Amino acid sequence: MKGRSFVVGAASLATYRPVNLHLVTASVEEFAAEAASWLAQNCESRSDEPLETELVWGDGEFSVAVFHALSFDEERDLLESAKEWQQRKASRGYHAITGDPAWGGLGLSKEHARAFAAVERGFEPPPRHESFSVTVGLIAPTVELFGTDEQKEQFVAQFLAAEMLCCQLFSEPGAGTDLGALGCRAVRDGDEWVINGQKVWSSGAQFCEWGELIARSDPDAVKHKGMTAFMVPMDAEGVEIRPIKQMSGGTSFNEVFFNDCRVHDSLRLGPEGEGWKVALTTLGFERDKSDSGGSSSGRVGGSWRQLLATAEALGVTDDAVMRQDLMDVYIHGRVEAMLNRRASDLAREGTPGPEGSLGKLMWTEGMTKMADVASRILQSRLVVDTGEWGTWEWGEHVLGAPGYRIAGGSDEVQRNIIGERVLGLPGEPRVDKGIPWKDVPR
Ligand SMILES: Cc1cc2nc3c(=O)[nH]c(=O)nc-3n(C[C@H](O)[C@H](O)[C@H](O)COP(=O)(O)OP(=O)(O)OC[C@H]3O[C@@H](n4cnc5c(N)ncnc54)[C@H](O)[C@@H]3O)c2cc1C
Repeated sequence: MKGRSFVVGAASLATYRPVNLHLVTASVEEFAAEAASWLAQNCESRSDEPLETELVWGDGEFSVAVFHALSFDEERDLLESAKEWQQRKASRGYHAITGDPAWGGLGLSKEHARAFAAVERGFEPPPRHESFSVTVGLIAPTVELFGTDEQKEQFVAQFLAAEMLCCQLFSEPGAGTDLGALGCRAVRDGDEWVINGQKVWSSGAQFCEWGELIARSDPDAVKHKGMTAFMVPMDAEGVEIRPIKQMSGGTSFNEVFFNDCRVHDSLRLGPEGEGWKVALTTLGFERDKSDSGGSSSGRVGGSWRQLLATAEALGVTDDAVMRQDLMDVYIHGRVEAMLNRRASDLAREGTPGPEGSLGKLMWTEGMTKMADVASRILQSRLVVDTGEWGTWEWGEHVLGAPGYRIAGGSDEVQRNIIGERVLGLPGEPRVDKGIPWKDVPR
């Protein structure tokens, strides 16, 4: 049976437009003062204490999780509260401070965005969720770059305001690092495309209304040339989502199967055969950790303060080697912040460059260092819950940190990109170069 087909523009609801024109002309100081007053009325204050002294051991919640280990309902509730907060910010344009006013942004400078983030750090907005960051930070800007006018009108403002969520449908069981090898097929049939195949590790697919799909449209072309990108409604007939159980307990990732799923050509993102360019752009946004958009989402997987507080609570800070390890984590974090700041200042307009790989690598190395030091501080407390506050929770960091060394391109792959595209070193040997995808041995 043929599935439903979807046409772009059918649900165009781009309603976010800048509301407070005086904000658009404000100096950084005026803008920060307005933001502080608005946040005070709309959000819980974190504490009256200065940030550096805010962690009181044994007091309140302690989370250093990298991924959520939640039930479906808990994860959906967390997402809903993050969406609600983003929409409240969108009513003032605070969700997209540097963004294009055409899509509800304020079109202000990075200094304005950083000033907002600094103020917001004194408050306690709801925690973020990966689907939310993917939609707002990766897919909205990709549609802005590659979408038709109708697609931009349909998606960009709503994605930025998290009215709708979108997942990445890139990886397949036989195509992760070598994404260009992917085999999910898109075959043209009149004004529609028929999609058949499987995706895997699709984060948050069960909570998303849309997916950015990269599919093989021309098997006769060389592998990087024969792909096309689409925006696919996740409730379309022929789309089946199966959650995967993680070792940390949650089910944030999914397998997604396409069985004769029909997608209208108006949902093709970018030209036919240019899916690789679209995918690289989304991945570039994923690797770019400079975060100039004014987010105060804090660090995924805990902070230096939490690590130090754990070491102090367990009485290990007199140990000279431990002190050195702790300083190593601290210095890494400071260097990473400076590197990201520099990358943000140097960022070219529009498409992210390969330099984002440096930030991604620094970030995952920092998380790994933190996991190693936390493991040495906690020792057996990491595997046996002693009931001591702030100890057992580190397991969620240690088990989750390796995931980001793989997601968005593994550490090894970031090093290849830096070598080849930043430093200009000779490329790796490529045995499938110049061969049509269908003839590549597999
Ligand atoms: C937490 C998480 C979230 C994810 N979310 C999504 C998502 O939302 N959507 C999506 O499409 N995908 C997602 N992925 C999938 C992710 O993009 C892939 O796992 C990743 O690209 C690696 O592919 P793979 O798992 O097939 O490993 P492989 O490609 O099989 O690699 C295995 C190992 O070989 C190494 N390797 C491979 N090729 C080379 C090389 N040329 N040089 C050096 N080393 C190499 C790799 O570094 C790795 O260590 C997610 C993954 C994780 C872990």
